[in-house]
Amino acid sequence: MEPNRGGDSRGDVFIVSGPSGAGKGTLVRALLDRVPGLWLSVSATTREPRPGEVEGVHYHFLAREEFDRLVAGDGFLEWAEVHGNRYGTLRSKVEERVAAGQDVILEIDPQGAGQVKRALPSAVLVFIEPPSFEELRRRLIGRGSETPEQIERRLCAAVEELKIAGTYDYVVINDDVERATDELAHIVESHARTRDSDPKD
Ligand code: ADP
Ligand code: 5GP
Repeated sequence: MEPNRGGDSRGDVFIVSGPSGAGKGTLVRALLDRVPGLWLSVSATTREPRPGEVEGVHYHFLAREEFDRLVAGDGFLEWAEVHGNRYGTLRSKVEERVAAGQDVILEIDPQGAGQVKRALPSAVLVFIEPPSFEELRRRLIGRGSETPEQIERRLCAAVEELKIAGTYDYVVINDDVERATDELAHIVESHARTRDSDPKD
């Protein structure tokens, strides 16, 4: 796949979503290594940076007032309150890349995924599902980035989130990182092939 087709061919938007701890971040990082030319949208959030997180790389860390100003100015393609903090996709950045012909990945929660799909029906929705609920719990505990209370909150949200997997364009079971990355790369590459071979495009 060419990184940038430019001209009149717009890029595609791929939304990678699913419960916290399912492995979205892990798979998206592996996907970016595997498929050249993808651009990962860096979200804005009101949550505090975790140790090692870098402004502009992992997130744009904003004060609540700055975030709300962007909401009021229609600066977000979508935004949602997730596990007690606000997160949003910066509209202008995504639109610039898509207009330049680049494929864009959004790694966002299922509320935001639904908003993008309604605003942009051509966006491709991919649900990352853990092999089991118990494995999801093990992964969240093993990651060690949340308190036990935060883990319980994320698992409660996961019960509801898992119910909507069937409404997505694709469901990828993250049983094994290598295998699931192959499946994700295949989804992205097959969309690029279909689009690039369509004479109407
Ligand atoms: P998310 O971005 O969906 O919240 P992460 O990518 O942070 O999830 O993954 C949660 C934890 O599970 C991390 O510690 C990660 O290393 C681990 N993990 C991800 N995928 C797998 C997998 N296929 N098998 C085992 N552990 C995994
Ligand atoms: P974390 O705080 O662990 O980085 O992310 C918590 C959740 O917020 C994850 O499910 C992640 O996908 C989601 N998230 C990250 N960025 C965005 C965004 O821009 N919009 C929405 N709706 N969710 C996001």
